[in-house]
Amino acid sequence: MEMQMDFIRKLPTPLEVKEMYPTDDKIKKIKELRDEEIRNILSGEDDRFILVIGPCSADNEEAVLEYVSRLSKLQEEVKDKLLFIPRVYTNKPRTNGTGYKGMVHQPDPNKPEDMFEGIIASRRMHTLVVKETGLTCAEEMLYPEYHRYLSDLLSFVSVGARSVEDQQHRLTASGVGIPCGMKNPTGGDLRVMMNSIEAAQNPQRFIYRGWEVDTPGNEFALAILRGYIDKYGINHPNYHYEGLYNVYKLYKQRNNLKNPAVIVDCNHSNSNKDYMEQIRIAKDVMHSRCSSSEIHSLVKGLMIESYLLDGKQEVGGDKFGCSITDPCLGWEKTEELIKDLYDLV
Ligand code: PEP
Ligand code: MN
Repeated sequence: MEMQMDFIRKLPTPLEVKEMYPTDDKIKKIKELRDEEIRNILSGEDDRFILVIGPCSADNEEAVLEYVSRLSKLQEEVKDKLLFIPRVYTNKPRTNGTGYKGMVHQPDPNKPEDMFEGIIASRRMHTLVVKETGLTCAEEMLYPEYHRYLSDLLSFVSVGARSVEDQQHRLTASGVGIPCGMKNPTGGDLRVMMNSIEAAQNPQRFIYRGWEVDTPGNEFALAILRGYIDKYGINHPNYHYEGLYNVYKLYKQRNNLKNPAVIVDCNHSNSNKDYMEQIRIAKDVMHSRCSSSEIHSLVKGLMIESYLLDGKQEVGGDKFGCSITDPCLGWEKTEELIKDLYDLV
């Protein structure tokens, strides 16, 4: 049988979508400056601490803009110690491959999939966020070929736990030009994560969007610890002191790697998706940083899932700013946590 794939329509190219929602000099300047600040933190030149923070999925433009605006105001108050990179994630991997897959699939979560509109809506949202808040964001690089639709707006990408061993992801990460966090895989094997960092830090030649391409290697490919699930389906955290020290040793063993860095994802398998636990986990990581100079210089930030309202709701729910994927910390608790973290850096 021939392959069964219905080619619905040709999608606009990244260049075409970039022309629809272009960046201006102001956005370019903001991104340049923030990219540099983030690089300086990851290289150890700047001792501030990064928070990659925001909803699990950026499902609603208005709610995301409201959320990032609040974050942006708070950023001013804490900027001497903390640097925020808002999570504006428009593409979501799903454990069993079904369910809401992000704005790029469904610009309206209550309507059928429409990737043509989804790509445009996602670029529009990212452009508005930078324009209105002055903050460039983080995305998951779930579809490597999708990255170019947003490449002039983002300051950080992560390769998710379900993608981190994949060749196309690792090689694309070597050419994104911004820091790329490699998550530990869902099964927890840290060699997979370290191999991915190594692959991304090296120059590569491969096939990308119908081209043979060269990339220079990404010195800012780094580790993200998100906890894991073992072969019996049991959840295990990996944010604790011993786990962090272990990654320090793994980096030592691979002394060819540049800018050793860890960001701890406080949700997912670290919290067992008990979103409130993020508060305790975040503080625990800060405590580990204070207990060891090695961990202090290795752990450069936290990832926190946070939105306007606590918890989550079903897709189709009408609570404005409440997650429709993983449960998030609501705004009041987020603000309190950030202020506490400020004192713990
Ligand atoms: C996420 O960041 O929402 C996510 C899906 O993470 P992971 O790849 O670690 O499951
Ligand atoms: Mn999530």
